[in-house]
Amino acid sequence: MNKDKSSVLLIYTGGTIGMKEDPVDQTLRPFDFGALLEEVPELRKFDIRIDSYTFDPLIDSSDVEPAMWQQLAVLIRDNYDSYDGFVVLHGTDTMAYSASALSFMLENLGKPVIFTGSQLPIGRPRTDGKENLISSVEIAGARKPDGSPMVPEVCIFFNSLLLRGNRSTKVDATGFEAFRSPCLPPLAEAGIDIRYNNDIIRRPSGGEFKVHLDLDTRVSILKVHPGITRQVVEDILLGSLTRAVIIETYGCGNAPSRDWFLDIVKESASRGKLLLNVTQCLRGKVNMDLYATGRALGNAGVLGGGDITTESALGKLFFLMGNTNDNQRVKAFLEKDLRGEISN
Ligand code: ASP
Repeated sequence: MNKDKSSVLLIYTGGTIGMKEDPVDQTLRPFDFGALLEEVPELRKFDIRIDSYTFDPLIDSSDVEPAMWQQLAVLIRDNYDSYDGFVVLHGTDTMAYSASALSFMLENLGKPVIFTGSQLPIGRPRTDGKENLISSVEIAGARKPDGSPMVPEVCIFFNSLLLRGNRSTKVDATGFEAFRSPCLPPLAEAGIDIRYNNDIIRRPSGGEFKVHLDLDTRVSILKVHPGITRQVVEDILLGSLTRAVIIETYGCGNAPSRDWFLDIVKESASRGKLLLNVTQCLRGKVNMDLYATGRALGNAGVLGGGDITTESALGKLFFLMGNTNDNQRVKAFLEKDLRGEISN
């Protein structure tokens, strides 16, 4: 390997960026990766060695499962020493889930793992895919003068913004500004130059890079809403196959204060289930001490998720529960910031 030249492994998993219209029914379907590189000759102009790996089968990210995260993590682990960075081409629909999960699975990450994709296929005239791909490759290969990587984090790059993966959420189904990290400024912005926000970029604190593959997916999500029925709340909070429930609450972490609701929450907690309070709002954090309706949840045994996103809470629970059967241990880590996913 040429030590002076950066190297990036481009991992193509599927998604709109590499899709083509099916001539028969006009739906978008994944196409061959070789053709994707032909569409972006600009990549050859970088002084970066780019190798590629294509998933088989390519998938629309609506079909992403934890097994795919494990496959990605293994691929990064097996190629970790051979590349300076990784770019993952991924559908936008579940990109924030995948980037969040990988951020937990890759402990003490010392290299960039940049997820990107596009709203328009790369072959279309007004595609956003080219710019997203080219900048992602540049960021994945970027090094500081001392040779260390600029951004050793799992990130999402989209429409000029580099966002921490486990802070990101898809906010627009059709516009090019599809992703935001509402509770954290971008890690970098691409204009004439790529301006890095070095104050908030995380760096490994010296521990050895470690890949965690065990995930426990026994998590449900309960989104509270006016008119929610007792039956629905019971089904989700007391479900026998569920080990944890993310409760998506109003505002600062508030939920209905009716007795039947709180009784079910208490019953769920007393059965040992892990209950995490995450706000439905894009900005701000859960504070269960602010209103009586929030405090009742805290008293019933619900933990506060701070400003964590639902996508990140899901990945964090899968990861923590996969590492231990002891719910007390999971609780001890749940409210802690592990990968920059919550603000203190
Ligand atoms: N359905 C597509 C996917 O997530 C959408 C996209 O890539 O933007 O794979």
